[in-house]
Amino acid sequence: MTDALLGRDRAAWQASANALVIEGRAFIDGAYVAARSGRTFDDVSPIDGRVVAKVARCEAADVDAAVGAARAAFERGEWRRTDPKERKRVLSRFAELIRADLERLALLETLDVGKPILNSVNVDVPFAADCIAYYAEFADKLYDEIAPTGPNETALVRREPLGVVGAIVPWNYPLIITAWKLGPALLAGNSVVLKPAEQSPLTAIRLGQLGLEAGLPPGVLNVVPGYGEEAGKPLALHPDVDMVSFTGSTEVGKLMMRYAGESNLKRVALECGGKSPHVVMADADLAAAASGIAWGIYYNMGETCHAGSRVIAHESVKDRLVEEIERVARTITLGHPFEPSTQMGALIDQGHLARVVGYIESGVAEGARIAFGGRRVLTETGGCYVEATVLDGVTPAMRVAREEIFGPVLVVSTFRDEEEALRLANDTIYGLAAAVWTRDINVAHRLSNALRGGTVWVNTYDRSSLATPFGGFKQSGFGRDRSPHAIDKYTDLKTIWTAYQ
Ligand code: NAD
Repeated sequence: MTDALLGRDRAAWQASANALVIEGRAFIDGAYVAARSGRTFDDVSPIDGRVVAKVARCEAADVDAAVGAARAAFERGEWRRTDPKERKRVLSRFAELIRADLERLALLETLDVGKPILNSVNVDVPFAADCIAYYAEFADKLYDEIAPTGPNETALVRREPLGVVGAIVPWNYPLIITAWKLGPALLAGNSVVLKPAEQSPLTAIRLGQLGLEAGLPPGVLNVVPGYGEEAGKPLALHPDVDMVSFTGSTEVGKLMMRYAGESNLKRVALECGGKSPHVVMADADLAAAASGIAWGIYYNMGETCHAGSRVIAHESVKDRLVEEIERVARTITLGHPFEPSTQMGALIDQGHLARVVGYIESGVAEGARIAFGGRRVLTETGGCYVEATVLDGVTPAMRVAREEIFGPVLVVSTFRDEEEALRLANDTIYGLAAAVWTRDINVAHRLSNALRGGTVWVNTYDRSSLATPFGGFKQSGFGRDRSPHAIDKYTDLKTIWTAYQ
């Protein structure tokens, strides 16, 4: 199917989008339902400002119903007690159904987020399916432990599901981040109440149905679209939710910890913001670095938590590096997300667009220079488009050097020696990722050991797989997605100590 989709032109994609019948209701206890209040909100596409769906505006009463259904399903135990082989079969089928729904899911993701349709087809949908399939495999391969004891006794150390997991998701990679949560949480036997971002609820709503078709019992996966304050907050405060798995801004991540403390001390896992640095040494392969840097910031329009948004370059190579980055950036096509040649689409909404443009202006006001880009474009479309931008001459105190812009804006500063490079790179509240570009293996090891980030790339950027853990140091959060380590987040360890004759 992918090949047929890859051959489509913009008009064909637009025709498919126009023909979509979009579900906007919540998914609770195995069925689509309107919000209890009957209220909806407009789901506006950043592609052209058009309303693509009316979506259920869930509030505390809906969250309560979803948590109740999730709890009841957990207590009934049909899912957590499922034979491992059957659990694997259901989750594998869930992954297959996601793959089979490629066209619809890709369209919904692009309509909601404004990302290029071919990214949704080639990356977002298949990666989400791969993730569910990856965790399905653990169902009959993950062993518990027997601890060493004296004679005539046995100590089992067993992983148990937590119960009801609240999953709160941002808008930049709705499907992938949702799958990172659902895969390990469902594998472990939990029930889930999923709260997608208000900007991008459509694929999450669709997943409810696909999970049910795959064989998840009603109540095991529920979806409550709505605003953060109205639906996310009651979920995070709910006394019957055992864990909140949150991905989003550091600011809201801090609220999650408050809500946990104010309610039932639920477990909290946080994947938050970033301001990830590239350290480019004087001996670096500048062409390779420029390519890694440009794609690392302009992919997904810079709306990537681990986007490499700061360049800290040796003063002797900085100018050449910026020229190279510009050369690569000029090859990255910005345009309508349904145009197959488009590699950069729209920012998520008008508010965020204004924020990103505001950051560019603040950088200039504080003394930075626009090396290239810097403008809002395609305004006639009614959509939210900003050029690939580089701000040069950025100093550490500037807002653009310190705050997460979350758009296609790279800030560049220089260093004189390794010690200064490291100090500048680590001078941030965030610690999601970092990169080192050098041909010297000693420098590569020294810096990658000393950089404070959950992932450090050396002479590459944004390489990852399901087999490697992903998450932050410092205020980028804690807990890891992907890899077997993610399963730890969604389980508690129980020791069963038995004495016998
Ligand atoms: P956000 O924090 O505004 O929202 C994230 C989610 O939280 C949304 O579903 C939102 O509705 C909900 N929310 C907002 N206020 C809430 C409240 N008071 N109570 C409960 N829920 C609430 O973030 P965003 O703007 O959607 O996403 C962008 C941010 O996400 C960036 O900071 C980015 O770095 C971060 N992010 C991090 C990762 C990661 O893995 N570390 C991945 C993607 C995005």
